[in-house]
Amino acid sequence: MVFGQESNQYQVNAERIGRLSFSIGMYRPPSEGGSASLLLRITENCPWNNCTFCEMYKGNRFGYRKVEDIKSDIDTVKALCDEIFTVSEKSGQEGKVTGDVLRALLNADPILNENPCFMTVFHWLYSGGKTAFLQDADSMIMRPHEFIEVLKYLRTMLSSLTRVTSYTRSKTLSQRKPKELEEIRKAGLDRLHVGLETGDDELLGIVRKGVTSAELIEGGQKAMAAGFQLSEYWMPDLGGRERWQQHAKNTARVLNAINPHYIRSRPFVPRCGTPIYDDYEQEKLHVSSPHERLEELRVMIEDLNVTSRVCFDHNMNSWANERGGPLFHRDYEGYKFPEEKPHVLELIQEGLALDESRHNDIKKLIALNSL
Ligand code: SF4
Repeated sequence: MVFGQESNQYQVNAERIGRLSFSIGMYRPPSEGGSASLLLRITENCPWNNCTFCEMYKGNRFGYRKVEDIKSDIDTVKALCDEIFTVSEKSGQEGKVTGDVLRALLNADPILNENPCFMTVFHWLYSGGKTAFLQDADSMIMRPHEFIEVLKYLRTMLSSLTRVTSYTRSKTLSQRKPKELEEIRKAGLDRLHVGLETGDDELLGIVRKGVTSAELIEGGQKAMAAGFQLSEYWMPDLGGRERWQQHAKNTARVLNAINPHYIRSRPFVPRCGTPIYDDYEQEKLHVSSPHERLEELRVMIEDLNVTSRVCFDHNMNSWANERGGPLFHRDYEGYKFPEEKPHVLELIQEGLALDESRHNDIKKLIALNSL
């Protein structure tokens, strides 16, 4: 093979590639995995870290990263790209990032296969090098002028990017000035993923979300006005049997006021190690049955008056249809409202008409420890 027949130059480069590392966090939305986004950590963990249902960053302190450190990570990604392109040229692939390029690199150093930085950059380039996701939980917490500096640097150094996205909190969005958000948007941040969870003030307080429904609306509306593409995530059954109706009604109310581009369903799961799991175990909170969850969904969807795309792009949307397949399709673009709202309501009706035993029951899954 051309690669193996070349001098040690390739070997040396493979060793260098193995040493090039940058910070990658644990979490990204599923849709960013679908687009093989480049993952770059611009803050560490969650500055709030109090939500009772969330296990993501528990036990880890929030870290505010220096701009120079983030820029250095971007330089490292660029260096990795350059090395991969060089191997592509030298192995006859004319700068294209192909399976043959990967094979050539792994022949030179099989350990690269276990190197998360290299593999992240390779997969990103292999998929076109178009999208990046900035980790961790609340990028808008960065001082606006520093965030803008990072974004401009990122866009300059990695010019193939066509979309840059991140997580943020509604509370932080509500505290930013419209002009700051506009400048961040113009500097190159395109899409925001926001955990709304519920629009019900009582429930927001119970789960210690650290935000009011008025702030959810203010943050969401500001993001939309600044030109971001906005994904809001809500959590069916977060209120359990005790508060399902107020949860459904107020979530629809808040989402109607925001009218985000995407509304994404993330059904509630009491995760071991979270405060809400203790409430569940002590029977202070009763999760709903599959039919009760669908009934909650029906109330929420009926009240939705939006032009958003409503998505069920997570495997916890585990209701079955008549044929035993998933009730809702799982793709990242979901159902266009209002056009497909009647269809979604029909699907809910189909799920309700099935015997309840045909659906996955969250309580059984928890008891089987299969979550
Ligand atoms: S703000 Fe998000 S990441 Fe932070 S604790 Fe709450 S749900 Fe978890």
